[in-house]
Amino acid sequence: MSDCLFCKIAAGEIPSTCVYEDELVYAFKDIDPQAPVHFLVIPKAHIPSAAAITPENSAVVAHAFEVIARLAKEQGLEGFRVVSNCGEQAGQSVFHLHFHVLSGRDMTWPPG
Ligand code: AMP
Ligand code: ZN
Repeated sequence: MSDCLFCKIAAGEIPSTCVYEDELVYAFKDIDPQAPVHFLVIPKAHIPSAAAITPENSAVVAHAFEVIARLAKEQGLEGFRVVSNCGEQAGQSVFHLHFHVLSGRDMTWPPG
């Protein structure tokens, strides 16, 4: 999608700090980290949010979670949280599906 920030980041048109990349997903550091470890995993294909996951595009979601598990192991994360804000009321500000991976500090539940 031409006017999407994360499509541009995935395409290398806007700079980011890469954590991992393959043909399906791109992972990069969040510009405004909310924990000592905070990176985002996105499908390279444009999916607006978790509400737009369908049988046709869900394989990339499974792949993204495999990548998250691998990165967490490689980085030695003791515990981590995976968050996907869906819709403005839930705090979504970039409308390209992304999974926040947060770690390195104690976290409360429920979230605010
Ligand atoms: P959300 O509010 O759940 O849609 O998450 C969007 C996230 O993208 C926020 O945590 C932002 O800090 C992050 N973000 C916005 N612009 C950039 C950027 N250019 N590079 C890295 N992260 C970004
Ligand atoms: Zn996009």
